[in-house]
Amino acid sequence: MKILIRFDDIAENMNWRLMDKSEQLFDRYNIKPILGIIPNNQDKELKSYPKRENFWKIVKKWQSKGWEISMHGYNHLYHNETGHKDYFRYGGKSEFFGETLIDQKNKIQKGLEIFKQNKIKIRSFFAPNHTYDLNTFKALKISGIHQVIDGYGLKPYLNNEIIFVPQLFYKIFFMPFGLQTTQIHLNMMGDKEFNKFQFLIKKNYQNIISYDEALNLLSERILDKFINKIIYYLLIFKRKISN
Ligand SMILES: [Zn+2]
Repeated sequence: MKILIRFDDIAENMNWRLMDKSEQLFDRYNIKPILGIIPNNQDKELKSYPKRENFWKIVKKWQSKGWEISMHGYNHLYHNETGHKDYFRYGGKSEFFGETLIDQKNKIQKGLEIFKQNKIKIRSFFAPNHTYDLNTFKALKISGIHQVIDGYGLKPYLNNEIIFVPQLFYKIFFMPFGLQTTQIHLNMMGDKEFNKFQFLIKKNYQNIISYDEALNLLSERILDKFINKIIYYLLIFKRKISN
């Protein structure tokens, strides 16, 4: 069992109280999470959280600790309804799905420019609400991004010249096998949920790996690809019956 800690919706406005607590926790257990940063957050709901000054200096400090900084969309505004036609069949609204290749490329490159101005290196991406179409992947590749932290499977896999690092479950629990990537939304957590998260970290910290270690698990074995496919169908089926 290996665990990669992914935090979503990291931006100037967020639940900084729990972010500070998370940082202490990660430092104590030498955990290197992956942080999904929204470069130009315009999401009204997310903007309702407290703002911290010098955000980009803080991001730089996180990167210098060996934490992985990833790009989580551009402005986190949803434009289109996917009607379950998105690449991973999540359904729901999307910042990218259905936009033209040029529009998607422009958004991604404007986002990357913000990171560049702040001297933050970016090599990976994950879209708000897990929603992509084929143009999203084209736009990412044109922009030099070949890693996506999303998808189905128990190990990272290569598809369409992109390394996908799977992210399967919304709830925090840890499977006894494979690589599992969390999806933590501090903004939606109360103290009770955070304590549970803290407890799981303390119990499982020896299994928590860095993003580089996760990338090293990349597998092109046929058996692993077959398992990834089965997980894809199982999870889509599970979502269908629970909807
Ligand atoms: Zn998000």
